[in-house]
Amino acid sequence: MKWSEQFYAWREGDGCPSCADGRPDETPWGVRFFAGAVSDAYLVRADVQRGLSMVIWRGRHIVEPTELSDVEAAAYGREVLTVGRALQDAFAPVKLNYNVLGNSVPHLHTHIVPRHADDPRPGWPFPFPDPEPGPMSQARLAQEVALLRGALGRDRRPPLIR
Ligand SMILES: [Zn+2]
Repeated sequence: MKWSEQFYAWREGDGCPSCADGRPDETPWGVRFFAGAVSDAYLVRADVQRGLSMVIWRGRHIVEPTELSDVEAAAYGREVLTVGRALQDAFAPVKLNYNVLGNSVPHLHTHIVPRHADDPRPGWPFPFPDPEPGPMSQARLAQEVALLRGALGRDRRPPLIR
């Protein structure tokens, strides 16, 4: 097996779909519920797992988090955690998983996967179904986006030092 020619091109930023997106409110695969200083977070439309979200770095084209400066890494990390807290508030998962993969779209992003009590594989990495299930209903999508936006409005950050 080999990585595709397209993957190598995207990795260099040539035709990268995340860079081409700009910062849309909606994409074919997700609805934005958080617009930060350096990232956007989207609730995934596909009915894979309640609250499955993606945080996308919106600075220059970057593949690996190691390419971020210290200031950028702190900003990105803070925003990923802000989204994580909103997911905890909205869905009360048993556990949250933060996956930095980028094996299909090599532009820095983080999948945040809530793991629920009725999870498909407790104790193990989340088994993403292949093929991906269809989208959740528009009503449920709107309800969950509203839940997440509400959660973002409540500041759950712990104090700086304790
Ligand atoms: Zn890119």
